[in-house]
Formats: sequence, C-alpha cells, structure tokens
Amino acid sequence: MQGLGAFATRAIPAGRRLIEYAGERLTPAQADARYPDDEHERHHTFLFAIDDDVVIDAAVDGNEARFINHSCDPNCDAVVEDGRIWIETIRDVAAGEELAYDYAYVLEERHSPAAKRRYPCRCGAATCRGTILAKKR
Ligand SMILES: [Zn+2]
Repeated sequence: MQGLGAFATRAIPAGRRLIEYAGERLTPAQADARYPDDEHERHHTFLFAIDDDVVIDAAVDGNEARFINHSCDPNCDAVVEDGRIWIETIRDVAAGEELAYDYAYVLEERHSPAAKRRYPCRCGAATCRGTILAKKR
C-alpha cells in the first residue's frame, strides 16, 4: 500500500482497459500457506482475490498493475472478467495523474473498527472512509 504508485503518462479517456492485474494464480489455501497467518501484514502483500477459489499473487509474475494504489475516490476500477482482473478507467484521467482504484478489501472476519485500523486509508479524498476495507459488514 502506498507503494510506488502508477501515473498516467498521457491523458486517458474513461472506460479504457489499461492493464491486467497479473500474477500467479493460487487457491486461498495456497495463499494462506505462502503468507501465514498474518492479518497484520496481509495488506503488504500483492494478493487479489478474484473469487472464493482463486487468488492472484502479483509478487510472482506480476506486472506494473501491482503498484497502483488504493483511493476512496478512484479514477479506475478493477473488473473481473473470465477469471482475470483488469484495471479500467472509470473517468477521464489527465496526464501525470496518479492511477488508483478502490481495493474494497474483504476480510473473513467482521470489519470492526479495530480491523479497519489495521487497514487504514490516507488517500486524502474528501470521501475517504479511512480504510481500504470494503463497506460491507
Ligand atoms: Zn481513502
């Protein structure tokens, strides 16, 4: 989180598919084994759950997509299609603007205030909800 970041090198219109969130495909069990029990460190991984069966680990065979940061007021969205994740613009992006999408991270546990504090967001958006966790629960 708040890693390098990814920036548009030129203006990009809304609705453009930019890049696949590439990486090694794991089962949730394999992902858990690779990053054992660490709810506290988990958010420093490059895991992206496609669904209940497949997790992408962009630390292995990943591409630049893994450097895209979270925002609560993002200009991109992560779209799952046929078992793959694509980052697409959802509004016009200016040259030099940082690309971001809403991670909307979902934990197995309840999204309690304590859990939210472990996954903080400091994106600075007026609508920042203070966490990268999804709103549900
Ligand atoms: Zn935020």
